[in-house]
Amino acid sequence: MRVLLFALVCCLMTNHTLAAAPATAVTRLVIHGGAGTLDPARSSPRIDAGYEQALAAALAAGHAVLAGGGSSVDAVVAAIAVMEDSPLFNAGRGAVFSHEGHNELDASIMDGANRAAGAVAAVRTIRNPVRAATAVMRDGVHVMLLGAGAEEFARAQGLEIVDPSWFRTEERWRQLQKARAAQRVLRDHDAGPVAAYAPDDKRGTVGAVALDRHGNLAAGTSTGGLTNKRWGRIGDSPVIGAGTWADNRTVAVSATGTGEMFIRSAAAHQVAALVGLAGMSPAQAADATLAEVAEIGGDGGLIVLDAHGDFAMRFNTRGMYRGTVGSDGRARVGIYGGEEKPVRLPALR
Ligand code: ASP
Repeated sequence: MRVLLFALVCCLMTNHTLAAAPATAVTRLVIHGGAGTLDPARSSPRIDAGYEQALAAALAAGHAVLAGGGSSVDAVVAAIAVMEDSPLFNAGRGAVFSHEGHNELDASIMDGANRAAGAVAAVRTIRNPVRAATAVMRDGVHVMLLGAGAEEFARAQGLEIVDPSWFRTEERWRQLQKARAAQRVLRDHDAGPVAAYAPDDKRGTVGAVALDRHGNLAAGTSTGGLTNKRWGRIGDSPVIGAGTWADNRTVAVSATGTGEMFIRSAAAHQVAALVGLAGMSPAQAADATLAEVAEIGGDGGLIVLDAHGDFAMRFNTRGMYRGTVGSDGRARVGIYGGEEKPVRLPALR
């Protein structure tokens, strides 16, 4: 039986190895801006509109790259950099604070054409961590650089270095004070794994997956991690195979959610394995993986895109900031459950 199963898996893998990415004029960009207990009652149409505009700006930046014949890697970087520069998301400027009051940023990227990958973790002075992750990938020697070493590398690569105060926003600082206080309460009540996460559970990690004209996939993710994180904690976002994965033979994936459980599920790679080996669609593979994450007490969302342009934006939280745009320039964005709504892409500045 085992041998039969092994033979079947080998056969499926071989088929996928032989299946080259289709040369296609179809392009697609899918983004997320984090998943969590987003509650319309605690938001307002004005606040939601601000997020929708920020998502549209990120889609516009990435779409411009794809429409101009650029690579999926460059489109992912362009879209994520816009969200890193926006104070609305928990990535780059507007990132959450660690227990000690620092903004410590993690990011990763992967190129589906050759499975090259790069990541940085716990960096405090690189304006756009996704660009640093991309520089690590293009340098090609290492995959993940940490802290001061990553910052030295980024500086040597000519990337923009900023004072740590660039990342600070008052709202995130208030969230840290709340989280510090509430953590005691949660511990007293013997809270479960999800409840142990920040009480203001509006995570805002950002990610993007893209398919370019040449049939190449790419994925990237960037985050400030968790409010009140301690002891040099690093989540799934910079971990290749957990928060990010891209392989032309299957799918590109970016995750957001309770990072520890996404690492323990090898979530992003798991989605690719379910597509490649079990023949699932992007949506089926995302749902199955989120169910596995839930089994061990986690929640969050996944964006998934294959080399034909089929995609999914799935989450098992109340909401996920998300959006997508195809070759025709038609874009849609969503925040809560249900259908995404059409949005006009802004002109690029
Ligand atoms: N996955 C991120 C982390 O655990 C958090 C998030 O997605 O909001 O660092």
